[in-house]
Amino acid sequence: MYIVGMGNYIIDIDGTLLEGNRELNHGSAFLKCLEGRGDRFLLATNSIKSPRMQARRFAEIGLSLEPDRFYSPVNCVNWYLGEMGYSRVLVVGSREERDQIGAEQSSDDPDLIILLDFEKEDVSYGELQRIADHMARGCPAVTASGSPYYFKSGKKQIDTGAFVRLLESVTERKIPVLGKPSPDYFRGARSLLCGPGEPVTVIGDDWQTDILGGREAGFSTVLVASGKYRPGDEEKGRPDLLVNDLLALCR
Ligand SMILES: [Mg+2]
Repeated sequence: MYIVGMGNYIIDIDGTLLEGNRELNHGSAFLKCLEGRGDRFLLATNSIKSPRMQARRFAEIGLSLEPDRFYSPVNCVNWYLGEMGYSRVLVVGSREERDQIGAEQSSDDPDLIILLDFEKEDVSYGELQRIADHMARGCPAVTASGSPYYFKSGKKQIDTGAFVRLLESVTERKIPVLGKPSPDYFRGARSLLCGPGEPVTVIGDDWQTDILGGREAGFSTVLVASGKYRPGDEEKGRPDLLVNDLLALCR
């Protein structure tokens, strides 16, 4: 059961605090309230935009946030490396994305393959084949995203998840997604916030990724009636609370 004022929050960004660069649900006053109370919080997203880019979006609504306030699948990957003891990784992603991974990077003899982004570096057939070869000899892989496409100027663009499915079908191996709603995503976030036994509340607009994912991780959940929310989502996700305004949690 959700108890107002219990100190650790994992808060979704898009559709919950921001829509583009517009503030939602009195998000900035809510975060200031949490800071004032000394509550701990992470701003959680499935986007792998760098923390600095995310911080710039909040600066536009007058909130100054440190980069370590942001939690993405890349942070989850770094937590996962420590948990699983991987030390030599092959990362598919832009230079900026690769630089965020806290392990030695090797394309010859990795113990884990991390699939972040295939578009920015224009990954070739040869590179895809090399990844499939590593997987065939038993090297596991994880990814930040299961989305097969996204929209750019109204046109479908091939996204990371499509390459993940290609590699899964060729290698007949499963590639876990370390984004919401994966329990690993939420476990990694909690490890940054607090100890294992402490209560955590997930707040978000998506009844599946935020609410079901949060519940599966054993956390309290608050659904906001904005962003992706549609009437009736509270029946599907069964959050502890549904709110129209985040300040309702700060009374
Ligand atoms: Mg959202």
